[in-house]
Amino acid sequence: MVSICLLGGAEEIGGNKILLHGEEGAIFLDFGLNLKKKREYAVGYGFERINRVLRNYLLVGILPKINGVYREDLALDENILNNARSFSIDCCIVSHGHLDHYGSIAFLRMETPIAVSKSMKILIEHSIETSGRTGIDREIFIYRDRRREELKKKIKIEENLEEVERPIIVFEEGRKISQVPFQVLPIPVDHSIPATFGFRIETNRASIAYTSDIRLHGVVSKYTEEFIEKVRDVDILLIEGTRINDSTTRSEDDVKNQVIIETLKKKNGKLVSTLVSPLDIDRVRTLIEAAEECNRIPILSSRIYHLIKTLYEEESKVKLPNLENVKVYFEKRSIIDEGYFLGSTYFRGWLKKIYESLLNTDKLIKPEEISKHQDRFFLIFNSHQCVFELAEINPTPGSLFIESTSEPHDEEQEIEWEKVENWINLLRLDSRWIHASGHANREDLLKIIKEIKPNLVIPLHTENPREFKRMLEKEDIKVEIIQEGEETKLS
Ligand SMILES: [Zn+2]
Repeated sequence: MVSICLLGGAEEIGGNKILLHGEEGAIFLDFGLNLKKKREYAVGYGFERINRVLRNYLLVGILPKINGVYREDLALDENILNNARSFSIDCCIVSHGHLDHYGSIAFLRMETPIAVSKSMKILIEHSIETSGRTGIDREIFIYRDRRREELKKKIKIEENLEEVERPIIVFEEGRKISQVPFQVLPIPVDHSIPATFGFRIETNRASIAYTSDIRLHGVVSKYTEEFIEKVRDVDILLIEGTRINDSTTRSEDDVKNQVIIETLKKKNGKLVSTLVSPLDIDRVRTLIEAAEECNRIPILSSRIYHLIKTLYEEESKVKLPNLENVKVYFEKRSIIDEGYFLGSTYFRGWLKKIYESLLNTDKLIKPEEISKHQDRFFLIFNSHQCVFELAEINPTPGSLFIESTSEPHDEEQEIEWEKVENWINLLRLDSRWIHASGHANREDLLKIIKEIKPNLVIPLHTENPREFKRMLEKEDIKVEIIQEGEETKLS
């Protein structure tokens, strides 16, 4: 017997958690975080007491009520899991570095191996290091035993075992993942972050394909096409449906052309600034190229520059932008030395390192310089906090601000979008939204399903799974809607 159970992502976007178990063993495919629920109940933020976090996540339904999978150092009240099923998980396989696919791993037992690709690991580690994430949220690869920290203070313990690395399995595309039950083949697909993988899984009962997040209109749509080839005719297809009700099409090339058109309209001392997800490397490349075509110098946020540089240094296979002509934005952080005293604690470790390595080059650029020659530059920012940098630069009224991101479940922002809009108005910026989604639209989802031709489709990562039923009625392809926590047995 083999069963599939959706423990998250069944009728929602965000928080994918697929449990696959049978005689051969049990695995999670993704163990993501539902950011919407996290915000709704304000759980998991700095002000919450550590001994309540796990309990609260279970109460509000961000984490599924199952036994045997969670870490034991967070003072869990066992009553909350009374009568819950128990599993022993052999591995958690991650499809890509978006929080809604890996963000709840921090709560898994220390011994549970985590399977990722090399570049995916770099992307996740970079996010943990450079975003404002604190506490438990950081413990994806490194586990800090909270109980031991206190015990050490109470009684004398000799060894230092508070911080340990979780067992990591690094997989490679096209090679079966080792040390896991079932035969799991990772296959790259196109999405709004590099190193995204779909999977083909062979169990002793059925073959299964999982798309992860997927699109056919991106720069590397050939990956998605190759994925379709490799999973053709599987018994069961687990497919995302973020945009099942959306037929709009906009490719990465459309984004580039539109950005160029809008940028060229801005002359006479006007600034152009953009906002992207730092993980969307394809988009960063698009914007750098657009800037150069408009004869503006692209300026990257330190966070984006740091990520791309790390990927270069680690010889990642990800297609990276050329950094030869870009500059790096120099943030003012200290009180003294006009904000540029790198010895200040306000320059965090990684940021200080980046700036120090660039001090004697012409790469660093200060807001004062940008302010003087606004029509020479094209800023590429990665967080909503960029509005404070813009206030520092003091853009000429009517300067352009392009929002080039949309999926709010991908990454957590400290400031809500409405507040960014207030700043845009205050600074009298001319704002545009120019974006191509990370997800396939309705027509492409249908195309992907028809080409794979599975016996059964299970939709997930969608608010409208029933729409798949309507769409596939005439196609002679069965659709099964699984409720959260319900098991589907494969025979
Ligand atoms: Zn994603």
